[in-house]
Amino acid sequence: MPEEISRVYDAIIVGSGPGGASVARELMTQGRRVLMLERGDNAPVKGSFFQVAANAGIPGQSLLFTNLEMLAMVRGLCTGGSSIFYCATAFEPPYAMLDKYGVDLRTEVQELKAQLPIAPTEDRLMGPGARLMMESARQLGYRWHKLDKFIYQDKCRPDCGLCSYGCPHGAKWTARNFVEAAVGRGMTLVNGARVTRVLFEGDKAVGVRYRKNFQDHEAFAKRIVVAAGGVGSPKILRRSGLARAGYDFFFDPLVMVFGTVDGLRSRGEIQMSAGVHMNAGGYLMVDLNFPAPIYLAQSLPRLRLDKAFSQPKTLMIMIKIKDALGGRTTGWGGVRKRLRPEDKAKLKDGYNHAARILKNAGAKGIFSGWTVAAHPGGTVKIKELLDSNLKTAKENLYVCDCSVIPEAWGLPPTLTLLALGKRLGRHLAGQMQS
Ligand SMILES: Cc1cc2nc3c(=O)[nH]c(=O)nc-3n(C[C@H](O)[C@H](O)[C@H](O)COP(=O)(O)OP(=O)(O)OC[C@H]3O[C@@H](n4cnc5c(N)ncnc54)[C@H](O)[C@@H]3O)c2cc1C
Repeated sequence: MPEEISRVYDAIIVGSGPGGASVARELMTQGRRVLMLERGDNAPVKGSFFQVAANAGIPGQSLLFTNLEMLAMVRGLCTGGSSIFYCATAFEPPYAMLDKYGVDLRTEVQELKAQLPIAPTEDRLMGPGARLMMESARQLGYRWHKLDKFIYQDKCRPDCGLCSYGCPHGAKWTARNFVEAAVGRGMTLVNGARVTRVLFEGDKAVGVRYRKNFQDHEAFAKRIVVAAGGVGSPKILRRSGLARAGYDFFFDPLVMVFGTVDGLRSRGEIQMSAGVHMNAGGYLMVDLNFPAPIYLAQSLPRLRLDKAFSQPKTLMIMIKIKDALGGRTTGWGGVRKRLRPEDKAKLKDGYNHAARILKNAGAKGIFSGWTVAAHPGGTVKIKELLDSNLKTAKENLYVCDCSVIPEAWGLPPTLTLLALGKRLGRHLAGQMQS
């Protein structure tokens, strides 16, 4: 019998993204026995195109498409979840919104800021394209400023261009850092373990069933924390009888705006080094440099064959909007959602502002890429399906990931999820003591 199923744990955590990793780290700091089940692999991060394709580019698994509009939605399936491939931008949670739901994350965020490498991009790390866009935006009166990054900046090689593939230099902080810290304190991590459902005794969650190596296994614990992400968690919960999970979600759609500048030579830059939150407009506008293959994937569907090889001299701005809640995730883990007219209006407004900045920077041939999405969430909302401690209506069953966010979002969520995880870990450890 595998070691992980031969004992009862204090907690089982399903998924190792920012939400799950943070709960795990907190519980292990408090000396608890934790089993983490992660469906993806734990291969070292190599910064290779093949690795990102395998962990975040498999159609139907990590690369999902909405019906009709065919918007692509990416998620990372490996230890660390999507944070392995994220742009490492840290945004403060919207405290006032969360206060309404009885969730105060101020203390946790302060503690995380003291523990993690969160700081604005240093001047020397900003690429030539990002500098040009910042200068242009400021000339036009935008409050374009450097953004806080989760980066060990002393380890960063700013023009390596590998951020999107997973940082091989250990410069980008990811949720895997927390998982490794928890494993260092004795947590059991099982990879290749896809949880299919929660097991109950009456109304009490007592364990999970998971599939590994083509076989079903069961594991048991006093508390179960489902942290499989905005699409993964509702799938597990629905199969476990929580039928209302997975409806009316957000996914923060984005569009890239490109323009070429003669003489610009960008060899790959830190992504999202600076930008502006257009709060009233409901979107974020930032520099975002893609490596050539991702730039190609973005521009070719728009049939800009003339731009296919222009990546080194292309300025790139990302517009990411706060989309209205709607749609549903499906029983097999797909996504069904259409953009509303107000969402399209935000994307268009953002495009117009970005085009103005690019033009002022000297860019020509301005065009937009394919609309995609990257932050699925709000599928298991606080107040609707969870109490303010992230507990479901079932005893001992909790959720902690992007699913729990109760309203439309439109922001980089990682710092919020880490804070939610820390808070839940503390809450559970406190319960276990009493
Ligand atoms: C390209 C990209 C760029 C981004 N940039 C930023 C950024 O700059 N700043 C920011 O704050 N956010 C960014 N994000 C978003 C951020 O990475 C995610 O919002 C965050 O990782 C979500 O955390 P999570 O815990 O909800 O879930 P995830 O990170 O999705 O982790 C869920 C984990 O659960 C596992 N899992 C799923 N199903 C199962 C199952 N059945 N059994 C076991 N395990 C399962 C998955 O393999 C995964 O490891 C970006 C995302 C992407 C894709």
